[in-house]
Amino acid sequence: MNTAPYKSLWVEILKKLEPTIQRSMLITWFKDTSVLGLDEGKLIVGLPLPMYLNWHLQNYRESILKAAQQINPAIDQIMYHVDLSLRDDETRTVNLLTLFPDRKPRKLPGKMEIKVGEGLQSRMFNPRYTLDSFVVGPSNRLAHAAAQAASAQPGGKYNPLFIYGGVGLGKTHLLQGVGHAYHHANPSAVVLYITSEEFTNQVIEAIRQQKIEGLRRKYRQVDMLIIDDVQFFASKERTQEEFFHTFNTLLEARKQVVVSSDRPPLELHSLLHDRLRSRFERGMIADVALPDYETRVAILQERAREYEIFFDQKVLSFIAEHVTDSVRSLEGILMQAVAQYELEQRIPTVNSIAEILCKLARDPHREVGEELIGFEAPPKRALKFEDLLEGVSAYYSISIQDITGTSRLREILMPRQVAMYLAKKYLRMSLSQLGERFSGRDHSTVIHSVRKIEKMMKDDPLILREVRAIEQEVGALR
Ligand code: ADP
Ligand code: MG
Repeated sequence: MNTAPYKSLWVEILKKLEPTIQRSMLITWFKDTSVLGLDEGKLIVGLPLPMYLNWHLQNYRESILKAAQQINPAIDQIMYHVDLSLRDDETRTVNLLTLFPDRKPRKLPGKMEIKVGEGLQSRMFNPRYTLDSFVVGPSNRLAHAAAQAASAQPGGKYNPLFIYGGVGLGKTHLLQGVGHAYHHANPSAVVLYITSEEFTNQVIEAIRQQKIEGLRRKYRQVDMLIIDDVQFFASKERTQEEFFHTFNTLLEARKQVVVSSDRPPLELHSLLHDRLRSRFERGMIADVALPDYETRVAILQERAREYEIFFDQKVLSFIAEHVTDSVRSLEGILMQAVAQYELEQRIPTVNSIAEILCKLARDPHREVGEELIGFEAPPKRALKFEDLLEGVSAYYSISIQDITGTSRLREILMPRQVAMYLAKKYLRMSLSQLGERFSGRDHSTVIHSVRKIEKMMKDDPLILREVRAIEQEVGALR
């Protein structure tokens, strides 16, 4: 589906709204939102999290309608739709920080100010993502050092630089940090940052318009190429080929290339062509991992300073103790606390944070290492095993007997694994007890299934949506 016209419509609406909404509110409540559709006067606004909904209904629905009508008088109603996949979808959502740059930039102690100048070619350069504002700890020290080295001696030993790690751990921040630092030292240099998704779109577009030469020229003229999330090139042969040639030309010209991915080159073997992958392997490879407690506290301190709101040390420690799955989640909680402060003048306390965490159903006693995808709302009611089975059965049109049975048919295997995943998530049953319910399978089969679904949900937004739909159906989500 081509969502571009909706995105530009949303940008127009946001521009009309912007003067009427405090900037911090706008950034908090419109982050990762989008227009999903326009249907006979009904404008469908997408929200990335369920918790945005009430707030929007109470505060913004009217003003969005007014703004939308100024652009298109045929619009007569605003509908909301929660779409969790918006959270990581830069193609559909708008970067508010770039669209509405802070008019009175806050001077941070010891921070250099970076203007997004001509040489920084991307709509997506985030002025906040500098190497200086990146908090260094054991989990990311090597990656940060490599980033620094690559920006100081571009095209040298650390070429290409390949940074990998899980979602929300700072890859994009580091990549753009390299670009900022290099550009700062070489203001006339052309630095290009692009996501692999956007690169792919450009290749497709260039092929369609028979302008592939122009595209090649554009890329081969840059002094530094930064390309984010290359796992997205999976099975896109033509894009990989284009990228490979550009990449080689730049390396030969001793121009720095910086790449990120959600996994190390070795594990990209089924996704990327070997020649591209082995090129990556010959450069510098560094990972970003989950930050330890001390680093989490330091990151929170850094972010709190940027918000210019006083946070008690105890409060920051409390957040760092309980939010462990990614830096992005840490920031999410902090942002909630900032919103609470600005809306209700509530000074953040351990209690107010605990409330936020509860609201987000972020169980503080959650097992370490358990996959968290987005914020999960608490179950509405106590769920029973049968409820979950019925939900899965109805969704996939497969009988309950088949789900709990022994068939190895592929159409049944995956729904069965989803059922195990949901049962593990929502029922207080041990893995062996669960195995029992599935024709006496052992606990390792259950855990394997659960992990598999968790991974699929992370890798594939469609699967994530399927599972969410079932959860919604059985009443597991609010
Ligand atoms: P990724 O690209 O790996 O998914 P991002 O670079 O988008 O992650 O990071 C998510 C958020 O966390 C960003 O706002 C980023 O600034 C912040 N962040 C991640 N790691 C750090 C760090 N070490 N210091 C400061 N901020 C960080
Ligand atoms: Mg990223």
